[in-house]
Amino acid sequence: GSEVPEKITIGTDTSFVPFEFLNQDTGEYEGFDIDLVKAIAEKIGIEYELKPMDFNGLIPALQTGNLDMAIAGMTITDERKKVVDFTRPYYDAGLYILVRSDEKSIKGVEDLKGKVVATKQGTTSFNYASKLDGLKEVRPFPNIDQAYMELEKGSADAVIYDSPNVLYYIKTKGKGKVKAVGDLLQAESYGIAFPKGSPLRDKVDEALGELMEDGTYEKLYVKWFGQKP
Ligand code: GLN
Repeated sequence: GSEVPEKITIGTDTSFVPFEFLNQDTGEYEGFDIDLVKAIAEKIGIEYELKPMDFNGLIPALQTGNLDMAIAGMTITDERKKVVDFTRPYYDAGLYILVRSDEKSIKGVEDLKGKVVATKQGTTSFNYASKLDGLKEVRPFPNIDQAYMELEKGSADAVIYDSPNVLYYIKTKGKGKVKAVGDLLQAESYGIAFPKGSPLRDKVDEALGELMEDGTYEKLYVKWFGQKP
């Protein structure tokens, strides 16, 4: 129908640090997307239930109407725009190559020939890696932590994935073990996604615009990324 329900279901990724992740101590989801969605819902005056799932499942769930909306650091692409609607971009990112700290032969994308690249299934990184010429193998995992593990234990030569997550990993769990090499591979922007034609899209987009104007967005950005947008 064309009416927005009083309580909506919002899909998110099970883990895309620091946008959404489970805080093991509290059992609650946290992150930039989680804070942003809370602020948007308050602005619109709508209740919601958060439904974390594999990233791969979000677009199909929007298409079948099992989700009213999805926020998951989802890159706005022409291909996805054919099946879902997006808000305006709310975060600019790109893709980085991650290798082990002692890696000497991989300095950029041109050095990936004959190499095994691990990444996350259903993502723009998987598409990007799949189009590269001469890779030995692209190995997709449901969760990026599995790809990072594959790299650290030597089963993969590199990981390609979203820049904010790669940079966060280098500073936290991957500290001293991994490093990013080369330039940002592909400029991307994240948007919030909806079923095609959803009446909720304009309301959320407008609320997002207001939060960008009134300083709320900037406050959340600084909280999660340690710098101004
Ligand atoms: N930004 C990437 C994409 O949309 C990955 C997002 C994610 O893993 N949550 O494909």
